[in-house]
Amino acid sequence: MTVVREYSRGVGERGEKPLVLRVHGLKKHFPIRGGVFSRITGYVHAVDGVSFDLPVGETLGFVGESGCGKSTVGKTVLRLLLPTAGSVEIGGRDVTTLSEHALRPLRRKMQMVFQDPYSSLNPRMTVGSIVAEPLVTHGIAGGRELTDRVATLFAKVGLRPEQMTGYPHQFSGGQRQRVAIARALAVEPDLIVCDEPVSALDISIQAQIINLMMDLQDDLGLSYLFISHDLAVVELIADRIAVMYLGSIAEIGAKEDVMRNPRHPYTKALLSAVPLPDPKRKNRAQIVLNGDVPSPSNPPSGCRFHSRCHLAQERCRVEAPELKSGAGGHAVACHFRDIN
Ligand code: SF4
Repeated sequence: MTVVREYSRGVGERGEKPLVLRVHGLKKHFPIRGGVFSRITGYVHAVDGVSFDLPVGETLGFVGESGCGKSTVGKTVLRLLLPTAGSVEIGGRDVTTLSEHALRPLRRKMQMVFQDPYSSLNPRMTVGSIVAEPLVTHGIAGGRELTDRVATLFAKVGLRPEQMTGYPHQFSGGQRQRVAIARALAVEPDLIVCDEPVSALDISIQAQIINLMMDLQDDLGLSYLFISHDLAVVELIADRIAVMYLGSIAEIGAKEDVMRNPRHPYTKALLSAVPLPDPKRKNRAQIVLNGDVPSPSNPPSGCRFHSRCHLAQERCRVEAPELKSGAGGHAVACHFRDIN
């Protein structure tokens, strides 16, 4: 696998491992159009100043409620969407400024696995052709070699090579997600953005797919950006966790720090809703948030969480807190991070 060798440029802020991905000040605003002339009447601030890095071979989990901007981060990182501002460095190159032509070789290095394995596979193609397609598109293999490569990929994700001739509707949800993972692996990527990859699956199948992804990471040195609304799922696979709220990161740090010592009131509220699997431990007292997530087209002034935060004070309504880093890179965006 070529991943680790190529990404030896650029060392992370934490100074340990080379980075596969560095994102700085990423913004994505979608215009809102209205009236007879379809004029722009406002913007949806889907992502508003997100920065993080992802070392080679690690998993960064992105969690947050629906509409917080986590999927938009994933799509913008892969340049499926053009950012409004900010930079996305993959292997030391800012992909936001590259032409489509210059971006083409880098596209091989970054792949995506989607939430719904029912709609992400073409129902008219055999699953073997689906996995072979990127190898053909990128001119990597043909003929006998192509068949052999696809068979190897099938074996890698726990499918039998003789299943290559089947169509997606003949497979279960878990098997389809294995096909989607095999398709992503075909071009030997370094980074896979996984957007809610197990949300549509039964609990028992979720565990199988998570285990498969972790085994593949160990074998191939893959890096994952793992997007999910489910903290319990993210905890299983992530090395670090970023909690997003209304387009910004509220808290980011090593999994152990965020899960055992959350500092942001929003993270605490999310964690209080996750049942503890150990019957000897008491579940945390549940923190119920007031109201719904505000509209990203009109985000609150100051701290974006202030309209739902039980600790909010006057300062929170006028001054946006910075995402300040503490020990071990555990960073929190709250004026009162040291006392709550
Ligand atoms: Fe709550 Fe204020 Fe902290 Fe925002 S800055 S999370 S409103 S206490």
